[in-house]
Amino acid sequence: MSRQALDAFAAGIESEVLEAIEIGARSGVDKRLATLTEDYADADALRRLAGQVRQHTLDHLDEYLASAEERLTSHGAQVHFAASPDRALEMILDIVRASGTRVITKSKSMASEELDLTRRLTEEGFEPVETDLGEFVVQLDGDRPSHIVKPIIHKNRRDVARSFERCGLGDYDDDPETITRRARAYMRDKFLDARVTMTGANFISAESGRVAVVTNEGNARFGLAAADVHIVLAGIDKVIPRDRDLALLLSLLIRSATGQRITSYVELVAGPRLADRPSGPREMHVIFLDANRSSVVGSDMAPILRCIRCGACMNACPVYRLSSGHAYRGVYPGPMGAVLGPLLAGNEGFAAVADLARASTFCGACRDVCPVDIPIPDLLARLRARSVREGVILARAGVPSMAGYLLLARHPRLWRLAMGLGRVLDWLPLRRLPLASIRAWFDSRTLPRWRGAQFRKDVKRGRREQEDG
Ligand code: SF4
Repeated sequence: MSRQALDAFAAGIESEVLEAIEIGARSGVDKRLATLTEDYADADALRRLAGQVRQHTLDHLDEYLASAEERLTSHGAQVHFAASPDRALEMILDIVRASGTRVITKSKSMASEELDLTRRLTEEGFEPVETDLGEFVVQLDGDRPSHIVKPIIHKNRRDVARSFERCGLGDYDDDPETITRRARAYMRDKFLDARVTMTGANFISAESGRVAVVTNEGNARFGLAAADVHIVLAGIDKVIPRDRDLALLLSLLIRSATGQRITSYVELVAGPRLADRPSGPREMHVIFLDANRSSVVGSDMAPILRCIRCGACMNACPVYRLSSGHAYRGVYPGPMGAVLGPLLAGNEGFAAVADLARASTFCGACRDVCPVDIPIPDLLARLRARSVREGVILARAGVPSMAGYLLLARHPRLWRLAMGLGRVLDWLPLRRLPLASIRAWFDSRTLPRWRGAQFRKDVKRGRREQEDG
């Protein structure tokens, strides 16, 4: 999908969906700003500090991963390293087959989306159950998440009520409390049936081996309380140096993601059940997923691996808000997805998604809200340069519109002529051109009146005023 195709995708989105995304994204922006400014005199200093902690971890990732493995193993957990999503899937299948379970409960995990895990487990004859309410609706609909924190940001409660009715979870009722009660009743039996539960990890401490998982619904905790086997699937970038770093990173993650000061549940899982630790699953497996991350560590794109998956850059991004997460056609949408997607695709898959780096206005809103200070526009510019270098995307000078611009910019007389002729645009019936993409463009925008040459006039006037003193 080229940038034009992303525009076309956006143009085809129903207004109800766009409205749902706008409401969800705006509430994320407002709540984040309110809690950060109320709670911290200098939130930017904290963002810089968190960025340094994350970058330091990446700069010493080998050491911290080895330390996390050693601590987890000493607590009785089994640690695995998967080079690719397919290898991680094989490991998960081995573990669930050995457990004898059919039902598997799952907390929300973006790493599991990289494996397309729910679909793949279903194909293998298992019954995976997404227990995060948003992900549960995604599963009912055979859909994909369109936001990393709010997977059904593109749906409203009427959509959800229709999904529940279609899937036999009661007659149509769009009361949120009724919907939640029905989901809870359905999931309770599944929690009790599942011998295996899966979570992601928001962070894994290299110092203690503790796995931090945050939820607002208590679904991870219920899964851990009921199952015999706990599988953690986490990218290798989820390691942090010390337990005390959680204070900083969780504070920023939660405020940036949901505008809360703390989520309803924060699990710190130290290992499986032992004689001196009588609760929790009897077996714990931690699968560290590489999937091209190690090729990014140490490169000039490494800062994207600081990402703590808060979703704030999506909420703030004007392109995301008009195109939806699905337009990015990968696991990770929005500005961070436009960087991470092409990198995780590896050298072989880069060309297919390199165009995502062009889905940006370079307004910088993503950089300004990022809790770990990732310079997303700089990374997008590097990706654009790479795609031109590798011949994946034409240099802008090779694109017809840019070639025309270059011709005018190099010839002042032609430029002045074009500026004068541009007034014609004010009179042309552009909205009636027989091109769907142009009509769609004008549906949501009004072209300002032509002011060609005004900039030069203003500069000349400014100079004269300066000379006149
Ligand atoms: S790039 Fe920054 S703002 Fe975007 S999801 Fe990651 S941490 Fe959040």
